Amino acid sequence: MMMEKTMRAAVVTQFRQPLEVREVPVPRPGRGQILIRVHACGVCHTDLHAVNGDWPDKPPLPRIPGHEVIGEIVEVGEGVDYLNVGERVGVPWLHWACGTCEQCLSGWETLCTQQQRTGYEVDGGFAEYMVASGHFATKIPVGIDDLTAAPLVCAGLTVYKGLMMTSADPGDWVIISGIGGLGHLAVQYGKAMGFQVIAVDIEDEKLDLASKLGAAMTVNPRNTDPVGYLQRQIGGAHAALVTAVSPPAFGQAVGMMRPGGTVVLNGLPPGDFPLSIYDMVMRAITLRGSIVGTRFDLGRALHLAAQEKIIPTVHTAKLDDINEVLENMQTSSLPGRTVLELG
Ligand SMILES: [Zn+2]
Ligand SMILES: [Zn+2]
Repeated sequence: MMMEKTMRAAVVTQFRQPLEVREVPVPRPGRGQILIRVHACGVCHTDLHAVNGDWPDKPPLPRIPGHEVIGEIVEVGEGVDYLNVGERVGVPWLHWACGTCEQCLSGWETLCTQQQRTGYEVDGGFAEYMVASGHFATKIPVGIDDLTAAPLVCAGLTVYKGLMMTSADPGDWVIISGIGGLGHLAVQYGKAMGFQVIAVDIEDEKLDLASKLGAAMTVNPRNTDPVGYLQRQIGGAHAALVTAVSPPAFGQAVGMMRPGGTVVLNGLPPGDFPLSIYDMVMRAITLRGSIVGTRFDLGRALHLAAQEKIIPTVHTAKLDDINEVLENMQTSSLPGRTVLELG
């Protein structure tokens, strides 16, 4: 009789309850899939929503969260002839998309209505092993270590795509609103793309970090009216990427635009914000949402990070610490990202 191989994993068994760190069977890669030994997995705010069942479409339980996975291929399933055992890959939020619908065919696989999401509809990387789709795992460039790469697979990709969606040109003034896990990467990507970055946050400590990372200007709305200030100083910014966790920051970004400006929404706090129709129409403001990025975007975001030395601020933790990490995420505003080291 063959003994079933087991691994340690952090499992959601009930919403709003601590994850159970326990032994579970190592999954088997099916056709088109690969088995990965997980080296590192970042912890994203979305994991918190999965654990709490916050969204209308809840993940089926039990579920292993985690979608900022970096690992090494240990087995390739049938039909995978473009990846090899021993290669290092990243597994993003977009676990799989159909490849045949209008969204997939037009370069918007992230909007595929049949998509499966890592650590949500399928098990993710809070585990020693995981299965990924061979077509959606992305090779990690040499020169980026595991702990640095993990946050780039979701947070880095998300802000890279968000900045692309601003349609800003090199030299343009681009606001990054909210300098947390997403924002501190957005400042670096914005600078690498040639933008003049304006950091907006209510904590001076985070604005200092943004300056160190290359922001040309910083504004703290606690002591300066950001709309009046930017309109007086530069006539408003060309674009903004809002990664903030509070709804008022979204309306504020619209006010900080120059005529014709574009505001991209990346942060996902619950709630609404008011919009002046007159202001939007008369000043021809564009407002658009942006969610993660495609495989093509991920490849470009990783290579840009390797080339321009884009480095996330990382705090490390072990799989056994997962409940503490998730709790701290809800209460503290630690800048940077936490990454689980799995060996
Ligand atoms: Zn994420
Ligand atoms: Zn599709």
